[in-house]
Amino acid sequence: EVGRSADLLDEAWTFLRMAARPEDYHKGKSGKLLILAGSHEKTGASLLATRGALRSGAGLLTVGTHEAVIPHIASTINEAMAAHMLSDVPDENCEERLREFLQDMDAVGMGPGIGTSDGSRQALHAVLESDVDAAVFDADALTLLAKEDDYAKLRGFAQDATVVLTPHPGEMSRLCRCEISEILADPVGKATELADETGATIVLKGAATVVASPNGRVGINSTGNPGMATGGVGDVLTGILTARLAEGSEAPFDAVCLAVYAHGAAGDLAAQELGERGMGAVDLAEALPQVWKQLA
Ligand code: AMP
Ligand code: MG
Repeated sequence: EVGRSADLLDEAWTFLRMAARPEDYHKGKSGKLLILAGSHEKTGASLLATRGALRSGAGLLTVGTHEAVIPHIASTINEAMAAHMLSDVPDENCEERLREFLQDMDAVGMGPGIGTSDGSRQALHAVLESDVDAAVFDADALTLLAKEDDYAKLRGFAQDATVVLTPHPGEMSRLCRCEISEILADPVGKATELADETGATIVLKGAATVVASPNGRVGINSTGNPGMATGGVGDVLTGILTARLAEGSEAPFDAVCLAVYAHGAAGDLAAQELGERGMGAVDLAEALPQVWKQLA
Protein backbone atom coordinates (compact mmCIF):
# COMPACT_ATOMS: atom_id res chain seq x y z
CA GLU A 1 0.00 0.00 0.00
CA VAL A 2 1.12 3.51 -0.82
CA GLY A 3 1.25 6.27 1.82
CA ARG A 4 -1.39 8.97 1.85
CA SER A 5 0.72 11.62 0.18
CA ALA A 6 2.02 9.38 -2.62
CA ASP A 7 0.40 9.08 -6.06
CA LEU A 8 0.30 5.63 -7.61
CA LEU A 9 1.38 6.15 -11.21
CA ASP A 10 -1.03 3.92 -13.09
CA GLU A 11 -3.26 4.20 -16.13
CA ALA A 12 -5.85 6.24 -14.24
CA TRP A 13 -3.21 8.72 -13.06
CA THR A 14 -1.82 9.29 -16.52
CA PHE A 15 -5.28 9.65 -18.06
CA LEU A 16 -5.71 13.22 -19.30
CA ARG A 17 -2.47 14.41 -17.73
CA MET A 18 -0.73 14.47 -21.10
CA ALA A 19 -1.25 17.65 -23.04
CA ALA A 20 -2.38 17.22 -26.66
CA ARG A 21 -0.39 18.99 -29.39
CA PRO A 22 -2.19 21.96 -30.96
CA GLU A 23 -2.69 21.87 -34.76
CA ASP A 24 -0.26 24.73 -35.39
CA TYR A 25 2.55 23.03 -33.55
CA HIS A 26 6.07 23.38 -34.95
CA LYS A 27 9.46 22.02 -34.01
CA GLY A 28 10.48 25.25 -32.32
CA LYS A 29 7.73 24.50 -29.79
CA SER A 30 8.60 20.87 -29.10
CA GLY A 31 11.88 22.02 -27.72
CA LYS A 32 15.59 22.08 -28.37
CA LEU A 33 17.46 19.48 -26.44
CA LEU A 34 20.98 18.36 -25.89
CA ILE A 35 21.98 14.86 -24.82
CA LEU A 36 25.49 14.57 -23.43
CA ALA A 37 26.26 10.87 -23.57
CA GLY A 38 28.61 8.19 -24.83
CA SER A 39 32.32 7.59 -25.02
CA HIS A 40 34.68 5.22 -26.81
CA GLU A 41 33.67 2.10 -24.88
CA LYS A 42 30.07 3.17 -24.32
CA THR A 43 28.85 4.31 -27.70
CA GLY A 44 25.57 2.46 -27.21
CA ALA A 45 24.58 4.57 -24.20
CA SER A 46 24.38 7.68 -26.38
CA LEU A 47 22.36 5.86 -29.05
CA LEU A 48 19.89 4.53 -26.49
CA ALA A 49 19.34 7.90 -24.80
CA THR A 50 18.89 9.39 -28.28
CA ARG A 51 16.33 6.76 -29.27
CA GLY A 52 14.41 7.37 -26.04
CA ALA A 53 14.23 11.10 -26.79
CA LEU A 54 13.31 10.72 -30.45
CA ARG A 55 10.43 8.37 -29.57
CA SER A 56 9.13 10.76 -26.90
CA GLY A 57 8.44 13.96 -28.78
CA ALA A 58 11.91 15.49 -29.14
CA GLY A 59 11.91 18.62 -31.30
CA LEU A 60 15.49 19.44 -32.27
CA LEU A 61 17.96 17.04 -30.78
CA THR A 62 21.72 17.36 -30.67
CA VAL A 63 23.97 14.73 -29.16
CA GLY A 64 27.10 16.13 -27.58
CA THR A 65 29.71 13.41 -27.34
CA HIS A 66 33.28 12.24 -27.88
CA GLU A 67 34.75 12.66 -31.34
CA ALA A 68 34.96 8.89 -31.88
CA VAL A 69 31.23 8.47 -31.21
CA ILE A 70 30.00 11.00 -33.77
CA PRO A 71 30.24 8.69 -36.84
CA HIS A 72 28.23 6.03 -34.98
CA ILE A 73 25.44 8.48 -34.23
CA ALA A 74 25.48 9.76 -37.79
CA SER A 75 25.26 6.27 -39.30
CA THR A 76 22.59 4.92 -36.93
CA ILE A 77 20.25 7.85 -36.31
CA ASN A 78 18.79 10.07 -38.99
CA GLU A 79 16.95 12.57 -36.84
CA ALA A 80 19.64 13.92 -34.53
CA MET A 81 22.69 16.11 -34.96
CA ALA A 82 25.96 15.18 -33.32
CA ALA A 83 28.73 17.45 -32.10
CA HIS A 84 32.08 17.09 -30.37
CA MET A 85 31.50 18.33 -26.82
CA LEU A 86 33.10 15.68 -24.62
CA SER A 87 36.70 14.61 -24.16
CA ASP A 88 38.68 12.58 -21.60
CA VAL A 89 41.12 15.40 -21.00
CA PRO A 90 39.69 18.91 -20.52
CA ASP A 91 39.53 20.61 -23.89
CA GLU A 92 38.87 24.29 -24.46
CA ASN A 93 37.17 23.85 -27.81
CA CYS A 94 34.77 21.23 -26.49
CA GLU A 95 33.92 23.39 -23.52
CA GLU A 96 33.33 26.47 -25.63
CA ARG A 97 31.11 24.58 -28.06
CA LEU A 98 29.11 23.14 -25.17
CA ARG A 99 28.67 26.48 -23.40
CA GLU A 100 27.51 28.08 -26.63
CA PHE A 101 24.98 25.31 -27.28
CA LEU A 102 23.62 25.49 -23.75
CA GLN A 103 22.56 29.10 -24.28
CA ASP A 104 20.03 27.93 -26.82
CA MET A 105 18.72 24.71 -25.23
CA ASP A 106 15.41 24.09 -23.47
CA ALA A 107 16.67 20.95 -21.75
CA VAL A 108 19.86 18.94 -21.38
CA GLY A 109 20.24 15.29 -20.40
CA MET A 110 23.67 14.27 -19.20
CA GLY A 111 25.44 11.15 -18.09
CA PRO A 112 24.91 7.80 -19.85
CA GLY A 113 28.28 6.37 -20.81
CA ILE A 114 30.29 9.59 -20.43
CA GLY A 115 32.73 8.21 -17.84
CA THR A 116 34.06 10.19 -14.91
CA SER A 117 37.14 11.73 -16.53
CA ASP A 118 38.32 15.29 -15.95
CA GLY A 119 36.84 16.13 -19.34
CA SER A 120 33.42 14.94 -18.20
CA ARG A 121 33.74 17.01 -15.04
CA GLN A 122 34.55 20.06 -17.13
CA ALA A 123 31.37 19.46 -19.12
CA LEU A 124 29.38 19.05 -15.91
CA HIS A 125 30.61 22.44 -14.72
CA ALA A 126 29.55 24.02 -18.00
CA VAL A 127 26.01 22.68 -17.47
CA LEU A 128 25.87 23.73 -13.81
CA GLU A 129 27.04 27.22 -14.73
CA SER A 130 24.57 27.59 -17.61
CA ASP A 131 21.08 29.04 -17.40
CA VAL A 132 19.38 26.15 -19.19
CA ASP A 133 15.78 25.68 -17.98
CA ALA A 134 15.86 21.96 -17.33
CA ALA A 135 18.51 19.30 -16.79
CA VAL A 136 18.48 15.55 -16.24
CA PHE A 137 21.53 13.95 -14.64
CA ASP A 138 22.04 10.20 -14.83
CA ALA A 139 24.71 7.53 -14.51
CA ASP A 140 28.29 8.92 -14.61
CA ALA A 141 27.01 12.48 -14.14
CA LEU A 142 25.56 11.33 -10.79
CA THR A 143 28.88 9.84 -9.75
CA LEU A 144 30.55 13.16 -10.60
CA LEU A 145 27.88 15.08 -8.65
CA ALA A 146 28.50 13.05 -5.51
CA LYS A 147 31.75 14.99 -5.03
CA GLU A 148 31.24 17.60 -2.34
CA ASP A 149 31.90 20.86 -4.16
CA ASP A 150 29.94 19.81 -7.23
CA TYR A 151 27.07 18.68 -5.02
CA ALA A 152 27.02 22.24 -3.63
CA LYS A 153 27.01 23.63 -7.18
CA LEU A 154 24.07 21.39 -8.00
CA ARG A 155 22.05 22.88 -5.15
CA GLY A 156 22.69 26.38 -6.47
CA PHE A 157 21.82 25.36 -10.02
CA ALA A 158 18.57 23.69 -8.90
CA GLN A 159 17.33 26.96 -7.43
CA ASP A 160 16.82 28.35 -10.93
CA ALA A 161 16.40 25.26 -13.13
CA THR A 162 14.18 22.21 -13.15
CA VAL A 163 16.62 19.44 -12.23
CA VAL A 164 15.99 15.71 -12.31
CA LEU A 165 18.36 13.09 -10.89
CA THR A 166 17.81 9.46 -11.92
CA PRO A 167 19.86 7.24 -9.59
CA HIS A 168 19.55 3.49 -9.14
CA PRO A 169 20.19 2.47 -5.52
CA GLY A 170 23.98 2.26 -6.06
CA GLU A 171 24.17 5.77 -7.51
CA MET A 172 21.78 6.98 -4.82
CA SER A 173 24.02 5.65 -2.05
CA ARG A 174 26.90 7.80 -3.30
CA LEU A 175 24.69 10.90 -3.47
CA CYS A 176 23.15 10.52 -0.02
CA ARG A 177 26.28 9.00 1.53
CA CYS A 178 24.45 6.04 2.98
CA GLU A 179 24.32 2.28 2.53
CA ILE A 180 22.29 0.72 -0.26
CA SER A 181 20.46 -1.32 2.40
CA GLU A 182 19.19 1.91 4.02
CA ILE A 183 17.81 3.07 0.68
CA LEU A 184 16.08 -0.23 0.01
CA ALA A 185 14.56 -0.15 3.50
CA ASP A 186 12.98 3.28 2.94
CA PRO A 187 13.07 4.34 -0.72
CA VAL A 188 10.34 6.99 -0.37
CA GLY A 189 11.96 8.52 2.71
CA LYS A 190 15.45 8.58 1.17
CA ALA A 191 14.26 10.00 -2.16
CA THR A 192 12.25 12.69 -0.36
CA GLU A 193 15.25 13.62 1.77
CA LEU A 194 17.51 13.96 -1.25
CA ALA A 195 14.89 16.02 -3.10
CA ASP A 196 14.61 18.38 -0.12
CA GLU A 197 18.32 18.67 0.20
CA THR A 198 19.18 19.25 -3.47
CA GLY A 199 16.08 21.01 -4.77
CA ALA A 200 16.01 18.41 -7.56
CA THR A 201 13.28 15.93 -8.43
CA ILE A 202 14.59 12.47 -7.61
CA VAL A 203 13.75 9.43 -9.72
CA LEU A 204 14.94 6.52 -7.56
CA LYS A 205 14.91 3.61 -9.98
CA GLY A 206 14.01 0.06 -9.12
CA ALA A 207 11.19 -2.46 -9.46
CA ALA A 208 8.84 0.26 -8.15
CA THR A 209 10.51 3.51 -9.15
CA VAL A 210 9.90 6.42 -6.76
CA VAL A 211 9.57 10.01 -7.96
CA ALA A 212 10.06 12.63 -5.23
CA SER A 213 9.83 16.35 -5.93
CA PRO A 214 11.33 19.12 -3.80
CA ASN A 215 7.85 20.47 -3.10
CA GLY A 216 6.90 17.25 -1.33
CA ARG A 217 5.05 15.35 -4.02
CA VAL A 218 5.71 11.64 -4.36
CA GLY A 219 4.80 9.23 -7.15
CA ILE A 220 5.28 5.48 -7.17
CA ASN A 221 5.38 3.81 -10.54
CA SER A 222 3.24 0.80 -11.36
CA THR A 223 4.70 -0.19 -14.74
CA GLY A 224 7.82 -2.15 -15.63
CA ASN A 225 9.07 -5.71 -15.24
CA PRO A 226 12.22 -7.75 -14.50
CA GLY A 227 13.01 -7.88 -18.24
CA MET A 228 14.15 -4.26 -17.80
CA ALA A 229 17.05 -5.39 -15.61
CA THR A 230 19.42 -5.30 -18.58
CA GLY A 231 22.06 -2.89 -19.88
CA GLY A 232 20.96 0.35 -21.47
CA VAL A 233 17.37 0.47 -20.21
CA GLY A 234 18.15 3.35 -17.85
CA ASP A 235 19.83 5.29 -20.68
CA VAL A 236 16.55 5.25 -22.62
CA LEU A 237 14.79 6.85 -19.63
CA THR A 238 17.27 9.74 -19.64
CA GLY A 239 16.31 10.49 -23.23
CA ILE A 240 12.58 10.25 -22.53
CA LEU A 241 12.83 12.62 -19.56
CA THR A 242 14.91 15.16 -21.46
CA ALA A 243 12.45 15.22 -24.36
CA ARG A 244 9.42 15.66 -22.11
CA LEU A 245 11.07 18.50 -20.17
CA ALA A 246 12.22 20.21 -23.38
CA GLU A 247 8.67 20.15 -24.72
CA GLY A 248 7.48 21.57 -21.43
CA SER A 249 3.82 20.80 -22.06
CA GLU A 250 3.22 19.59 -18.53
CA ALA A 251 4.27 20.81 -15.08
CA PRO A 252 7.68 19.30 -14.25
CA PHE A 253 6.44 16.75 -11.68
CA ASP A 254 3.75 15.51 -14.08
CA ALA A 255 6.23 15.38 -16.98
CA VAL A 256 8.68 13.32 -14.94
CA CYS A 257 5.98 10.93 -13.71
CA LEU A 258 4.60 10.50 -17.24
CA ALA A 259 8.10 9.70 -18.52
CA VAL A 260 8.70 7.12 -15.80
CA TYR A 261 5.30 5.55 -16.38
CA ALA A 262 5.77 5.43 -20.18
CA HIS A 263 9.26 3.93 -19.84
CA GLY A 264 7.88 1.06 -17.73
CA ALA A 265 4.82 0.62 -19.96
CA ALA A 266 7.08 0.38 -23.03
CA GLY A 267 9.10 -2.24 -21.16
CA ASP A 268 5.89 -4.15 -20.49
CA LEU A 269 4.95 -4.09 -24.20
CA ALA A 270 8.43 -5.28 -25.16
CA ALA A 271 8.20 -8.10 -22.61
CA GLN A 272 4.77 -9.08 -23.88
CA GLU A 273 6.10 -9.45 -27.37
CA LEU A 274 9.61 -10.80 -26.80
CA GLY A 275 9.62 -12.11 -23.25
CA GLU A 276 11.61 -10.79 -20.28
CA ARG A 277 14.77 -12.57 -21.36
CA GLY A 278 14.50 -11.75 -25.04
CA MET A 279 13.77 -8.04 -24.80
CA GLY A 280 16.47 -5.39 -24.87
CA ALA A 281 16.73 -1.63 -24.40
CA VAL A 282 16.25 -0.96 -28.13
CA ASP A 283 13.00 -2.97 -28.09
CA LEU A 284 11.77 -0.86 -25.18
CA ALA A 285 12.58 2.35 -27.04
CA GLU A 286 10.78 1.08 -30.15
CA ALA A 287 7.68 0.31 -28.07
CA LEU A 288 7.42 3.89 -26.79
CA PRO A 289 5.29 5.21 -29.68
CA GLN A 290 2.51 2.75 -28.82
CA VAL A 291 2.52 3.95 -25.22
CA TRP A 292 2.40 7.66 -26.08
CA LYS A 293 -0.32 6.96 -28.62
CA GLN A 294 -2.49 5.42 -25.94
CA LEU A 295 -1.84 8.28 -23.52
CA ALA A 296 -2.72 11.28 -25.68
P1 AMP B 1 19.64 1.34 -14.86
O1 AMP B 1 19.81 0.80 -13.47
O2 AMP B 1 20.16 2.71 -15.02
O3 AMP B 1 20.16 0.40 -15.90
O4 AMP B 1 18.09 1.43 -15.14
C1 AMP B 1 17.28 0.28 -15.16
C2 AMP B 1 15.85 0.69 -15.44
O5 AMP B 1 15.02 -0.48 -15.49
C3 AMP B 1 15.23 1.56 -14.35
O6 AMP B 1 14.35 2.47 -14.92
C4 AMP B 1 14.49 0.55 -13.48
O7 AMP B 1 13.39 1.12 -12.82
C5 AMP B 1 14.03 -0.47 -14.49
N1 AMP B 1 13.95 -1.81 -13.88
C6 AMP B 1 14.98 -2.62 -13.60
N2 AMP B 1 14.55 -3.76 -13.01
C7 AMP B 1 13.21 -3.66 -12.92
C8 AMP B 1 12.17 -4.53 -12.40
N3 AMP B 1 12.46 -5.71 -11.84
N4 AMP B 1 10.89 -4.08 -12.47
C9 AMP B 1 10.62 -2.88 -13.03
N5 AMP B 1 11.54 -2.03 -13.54
C10 AMP B 1 12.82 -2.41 -13.48
MG1 MG C 1 21.99 3.54 -15.60
